[in-house]
Amino acid sequence: MQTKLMLSHPRLIWRLVMPLVLIVVGAFIGLSLYLPTAFRTAALDTAYDSNINMLQQARILRSYYGKTVAVKVGKSDHFKFAVNHANLPNAIPLPTTFLQEVAAKLGDEQSRLKLISPYSWPYRDPVPMSADEKELWETLKKEPSRVVSHEDTIDGKRYLHTAIADRMDEPSCVSCHNSDVMSPKRDWKLGDVRGILEISNLLEPHYAAAEKRSYMVLGSIGAVMLPVVLTLLVVAWIVDRRTREKEEVARRLSELTNFDTMTGVLTRQSFIDITSVVLKDKTYKSGFSIHLLNLGGVATANQLHGTPCGDQMIRDAVRRLREGLPEHTLIGRLGGNRFVVAGLGPESQAEVRAFVANLMALMEQPFSFNQAEIPMLVSIGSAIQGSDGERCVEQLLQKAEIALATAKHSPGANALIFDQAMRDTLEDRQRLLAMIEKALSKGGFELHYQSVHDAVTARIKGFEALIRLRGTDGRLIPPDDFISVAEASGAICEIGAWTIREACRVAANLPADTFMAVNLSPVQFRARHFEQPGIAEVVMAALAETGLPAHRLELEITEGLFLDRNDAVIAELLKLHEIGVSLAMDDFGTGYSSLSYLWHLPVDKIKLDRSFVTGWSESPETATPIIEAITGLAKALDKRMTVEGIETPEQAKYFADLGCGMVQGFYYSRPLPEADLAVSLLRFVGTHAPPLSDEMTGWVSAKA
Ligand code: C2E
Ligand code: CA
Ligand code: CA
Repeated sequence: MQTKLMLSHPRLIWRLVMPLVLIVVGAFIGLSLYLPTAFRTAALDTAYDSNINMLQQARILRSYYGKTVAVKVGKSDHFKFAVNHANLPNAIPLPTTFLQEVAAKLGDEQSRLKLISPYSWPYRDPVPMSADEKELWETLKKEPSRVVSHEDTIDGKRYLHTAIADRMDEPSCVSCHNSDVMSPKRDWKLGDVRGILEISNLLEPHYAAAEKRSYMVLGSIGAVMLPVVLTLLVVAWIVDRRTREKEEVARRLSELTNFDTMTGVLTRQSFIDITSVVLKDKTYKSGFSIHLLNLGGVATANQLHGTPCGDQMIRDAVRRLREGLPEHTLIGRLGGNRFVVAGLGPESQAEVRAFVANLMALMEQPFSFNQAEIPMLVSIGSAIQGSDGERCVEQLLQKAEIALATAKHSPGANALIFDQAMRDTLEDRQRLLAMIEKALSKGGFELHYQSVHDAVTARIKGFEALIRLRGTDGRLIPPDDFISVAEASGAICEIGAWTIREACRVAANLPADTFMAVNLSPVQFRARHFEQPGIAEVVMAALAETGLPAHRLELEITEGLFLDRNDAVIAELLKLHEIGVSLAMDDFGTGYSSLSYLWHLPVDKIKLDRSFVTGWSESPETATPIIEAITGLAKALDKRMTVEGIETPEQAKYFADLGCGMVQGFYYSRPLPEADLAVSLLRFVGTHAPPLSDEMTGWVSAKA
């Protein structure tokens, strides 16, 4: 906003410099108009002054000649005045003739002195005068001290004519003129006007010099002004450019801080800033909820098709949000594959749920890339502004984070709205995670072993290793309480590797005709995500380390493993099968009921889930057909079978009669520590399953 305002203002530097430049240029134009005229006028003045000067000099010269030469000649018998004095040895020029001749010698093209008089002087006929000369004569006769000056063009050339009266200014002249026989009149008085002295000065050279001078002056001024103007303009341009660059950087920065560069939605900080304004506005009374979205599919997209695919998935998600949500919904990106949406409007839980359902519907559609479909795998955590009128966005975000974390950990729940219990659970999970990490480094895990029996003879066929975590109070924490936490953090890979090693070590010390079953988490098949060795590698190392033959190890997997139909998982299973270990499908019948994998995957055994056993006890008519169908399927597919959770002699008998192969359950034995296995083995040497004895030691499930 501020940047926009700054940009819409004319730049300060131009506002300062442009008037200066205009003043300088204006002054120059003014001078270039004024100076030539001023110099021309000055040239005219100079020409005038020079004319006056010359006229004065002429006057002085004649006066001097008259006083010092002519007077003496007038009295001399030897010398006489003559017009043609040049040809006569004792003749000298009359003063006027002298002046005319000197003037003719001094004069040139540029300035010429002229003597004009109506009197025929000397020895000549009356002189005819032009109309202009007559007028001049009349003027000067009336005003003898006047200087008459005018410009005139003769033969295309401009002249300045300056004229003064030629007066009788010496008594000697007056007496001479009055006494001379040739004089046209005898009543001359001192000061009488006897003619006109006129100088014609050619103006062109003066004007040319003035023009040249004015150009020189203008040139010098220009030479000073031009660099000044140019410097001002260059400085203004540089300052302007710098300012523009700075503003551009500021604009880019503000864009960067306000909007996510990849998607154009708000950044975390601007989302918080804007939603804070809404929340703190007391006049805003509608509902307010925060929804955090996690795109789980981005990681898969990156792995399978590279980061451009992941980036495109993120952009596609933003497009869906923009197109599918109400117009003014605020959308932000919290980095990576995380987005946040502010629900402005929905108030009640039901309304917020509808909003979330819409969000989920928008994101659920699979994303296509190069004809491949990649699920978006969206989890949503929401938090509603509570009745306490909570007005802190950060707190709501934190609550939404807890809801999101809970949604990610809760199977089947992709979207959850925060409630206080979630915070407690999350805190419990965090405490548990700390315990898990500690147990990993300090050896806090233990394995208990539950025997697996021949359904008919009750002989021990093998054991299933079941993990426990020893709590700080010495209490054993069951796997159902911590496995999901370990899976979420990836710690399950390290735990699983330890379990396999430990179970193999124990199995190697048990009778050679028994097997050891170890439970695997689907996360262990993605071990490389957590920079851990792959499961096949771990198994091979454990077998090598303990010397346990591969066929004695059974790995229990669950149907959840096939959820995302990952080729890498199948490849890993085939590798395990090649090693020679057997694979058992645990909790069979509870999962995602796709039986197809039983045909084409190397599964050797199915473990019928305990729920079928309790189901049979509670409602035999409903459970029996299913149990019989599954047993028939196992037989048809030549898969071994174990029934889990046998607790009563009736159940033991029913499943033995059904011919299901193997059984497992508290009726035979609870999971026991390693130290009790020898006793357990001895107890089942007989052919019939003994009733559960009170002295049996070992793990008593909290659920039991
Ligand atoms: P599961 O693989 O189905 O293991 C059998 C669970 O049923 C065990 O619980 C066992 O104590 C219990 N059980 C056995 N017979 C009976 C019975 O007659 N009645 C009743 N009510 N329960 C019976 P546990 O040891 O608490 O293990 C729970 C689950 O934890 C296991 O279910 C398995 O999914 C997981 N688990 C245990 N150990 C590991 C492990 O090392 N790694 C992994 N990934 N998961 C493990
Ligand atoms: Ca199991
Ligand atoms: Ca099971």
